[in-house]
Amino acid sequence: MIIKMKRGATDAQVEEVERRIIAEGYTPNTIRGVEMAVIAVIGKRPEWMIDTVESMAGVEQAIPIEKPYKLAARDFQAATTEIRLGAATLGSNDVVIMAGPCTVETRDQLLATARGVKEHGGHVLRGGAYKPRSSPYSFQGLGEDGLKLLQEARELSGLPIITEVMEPGTLDTVVRYADVLQIGARNCQNYPLLREVGRTRTPVMLKRGPSVTVEEWIMAAEYILHGGNMQVMMCERGIKTFENYTRNTLDISAIPVIKRLTHLPVIVDPSHGTGKWHLVKSMCLASVAAGADGVLIEVHPTPDTALCDGAQSLTIENFADAARAIAQVAAAVGRSVPGFEPDGSRTGAAVTRVAVA
Ligand code: PEP
Ligand code: MN
Repeated sequence: MIIKMKRGATDAQVEEVERRIIAEGYTPNTIRGVEMAVIAVIGKRPEWMIDTVESMAGVEQAIPIEKPYKLAARDFQAATTEIRLGAATLGSNDVVIMAGPCTVETRDQLLATARGVKEHGGHVLRGGAYKPRSSPYSFQGLGEDGLKLLQEARELSGLPIITEVMEPGTLDTVVRYADVLQIGARNCQNYPLLREVGRTRTPVMLKRGPSVTVEEWIMAAEYILHGGNMQVMMCERGIKTFENYTRNTLDISAIPVIKRLTHLPVIVDPSHGTGKWHLVKSMCLASVAAGADGVLIEVHPTPDTALCDGAQSLTIENFADAARAIAQVAAAVGRSVPGFEPDGSRTGAAVTRVAVA
């Protein structure tokens, strides 16, 4: 902590602050400049000391210099955390594609999407069973029946599944089905929920809250890590700004910031980040170019009939086009998308063509 004394603070005031710091068991290091004194305090200080010191006579400001998180920090672990997800490893050189409907609606809808996602190179199937809807009158999801359909889709497609857990009360149920637990944007700072998912050993994708700063988001991840669950991935999904052409403003700069400050892999969700399907592909490409470890894309066989988020969902055909382009951009920045060649063609398809020739 650095304590800036006011210009004109008296020697007695400086000494009083020093006495207080010593009384708390710390060592003050005072620099007396021409215009003001600055006192550095080394060591881990309790949270309340900032307020206490700032209330003392002659003090201008007390500034914490230690980070309020530890386990998430790059200083704590230099190597990016790797999380195995089916055919891909998040946090490695792989760029991981997660895709699927916003919400599980029907068996046919989910299985058709799962088939399309698998066929066109997705690695993880997404789908919400418990939905955080802004209106209580909107479709709230199928609950456990939706989880059962996701399980069937996983068995048929071989894709691991990611699905949202909204509250501690349904956590045990969701854990029985999910390969990855999604914490939605609205629950980014729901600390009781974060503590509970921290007690599980299922990988967690933590979405950034719409009005949450990067530091607050990392502290939210710290809650999960603190519980002993080290398989945490961060998901940028857009934040609230004054711009209203897009549903949210996708903060691309958060990708290199999170990667610099933490060792956690970063996923970008351009579907919620923009709210418009025609922006999803370009924002996927920008995200991969900026260092994202994966993308989360909403895909629906018939977006115009979707019960939720149809306007931001890609058709299967548009998903195939986006996945190809993601593989090309990944190659251009020295990464690769498992199942794709650098030119965007499918590895398996290329082998088949060779075999046929
Ligand atoms: C979702 O992934 O469908 C969702 C509700 O996202 P968010 O929590 O980012 O709004
Ligand atoms: Mn959605």
